[in-house]
Amino acid sequence: MKSARFNDILAIRTEGGKVLGFHARNLDVAHLDEAAWNALVDSAPSSPDALEARAEIEEWNRTQDPAVQDRDVAAHVRHLLVNVAQVCNLKCTYCAAGGDGSFGDPMKHVELETLYEQIRMFLHDVPRGGHFSITFFGGEPLVNPEAIRLLARYAKLQVAGREIDLRFKVITNGTLVTPEIAEMLANLRCHVTVSIDGPPEINDRTRPTRGGRGSTLLTMRGLQNLLNVKDRLGSLQAASIFGSHNTAVLATYRYLRSVGFDFVKFDFAAEANDEEASQRYVEELSETADEAFRNGGEAELRRINLFDGWFGALDEKVRLNNHCGAGKTHLTIDGKGRMSACQWFVGKAEDEVGRGTQVDHEKLGRYAGRLNEMHGCQSCWARHLCGGGCMFVNEVKTGSKHKKDAEFCNRTRNIIAKAIEHYAEARYES
Ligand code: SF4
Ligand code: SF4
Repeated sequence: MKSARFNDILAIRTEGGKVLGFHARNLDVAHLDEAAWNALVDSAPSSPDALEARAEIEEWNRTQDPAVQDRDVAAHVRHLLVNVAQVCNLKCTYCAAGGDGSFGDPMKHVELETLYEQIRMFLHDVPRGGHFSITFFGGEPLVNPEAIRLLARYAKLQVAGREIDLRFKVITNGTLVTPEIAEMLANLRCHVTVSIDGPPEINDRTRPTRGGRGSTLLTMRGLQNLLNVKDRLGSLQAASIFGSHNTAVLATYRYLRSVGFDFVKFDFAAEANDEEASQRYVEELSETADEAFRNGGEAELRRINLFDGWFGALDEKVRLNNHCGAGKTHLTIDGKGRMSACQWFVGKAEDEVGRGTQVDHEKLGRYAGRLNEMHGCQSCWARHLCGGGCMFVNEVKTGSKHKKDAEFCNRTRNIIAKAIEHYAEARYES
């Protein structure tokens, strides 16, 4: 894929030779002709056709679409991620939770009384008719299913009669899902995410048990129990982490679809010197997107979370100014009630933004601005779809939450360009 740019207009030449235009502020996607492409790649066009095309591009760049809206997230917590266990029965090679799911403070049992108080406090702020979600996380949360049952029951009682859309989610490795646990999750209409990195030959290597054996068989048994109650779950999706340890996106996608997942969430674990793996990941993800679109058009492509999000933003013409809601709409609570903005900041005293029912508003206020402005993304053509990037990746790669990682930007822009290509196909060619 090649690209050319004039201010907020990006032209993309796809591998198939089509030329697409993207208006970064207005979130418009259009087909362009050869004259427009030539006018953009030639910095000093002189032929009458090229000059006319250049004038049209400049006019398009000046256009302000009144329909486009900014999605800014207000500083109201509407999503809690709660660690109900800080131990894990697996030992994934790339674990970002302290290497063993403990975040440096192993806990099989968590301080339920503190967590009740926190849930009560945050739910109290939700207006009638509002929404709230609680994600149970760990470590492996299903090490402690009783905590999930008790916390969910408590949360439901807090919203009784208030017409609040309360949702429960769990992110699990799936190995501990018995028929009884599947039934409990179904009763909560839980949205279940199973972490799995692909077919057994990959997943057994990247996600071994603590004893060093492959975990795929155990995950598949748990998945079967979930599939048995799937019609009563909120949703069932797989989450795969790629990185230097694994870049086989296409094989993973095919496997996950074959074993019954409806949706897949792909992420890249950044680390030092990951440029080669990152580029391979982009190539594989692009091939995967092409295959998904070929096989099932937009609906199939949108089973991959990244593409679903960007299609939605382009359709609704909503500018995403924050890569995530960490510290704004979204807080993480560890097993002792210590709060942080993002799940990967748990266990770092300097990132604690509250404890129990005491919120440190000064520290939380540091997350209040738009990420795409805080991170200096003003001249990036992808700024309203990327939303300024991930603070955790930035910290891993650059040592600062607010200093961008060049490889993240490279990866993200390439994947967004692929999304634009398929968006044009879905909206204007079918
Ligand atoms: S791709 Fe990079 S520069 Fe562009 S919005 Fe995302 S973080 Fe900012
Ligand atoms: S900072 Fe990064 S890892 Fe943390 S919630 Fe935001 S996007 Fe996710």
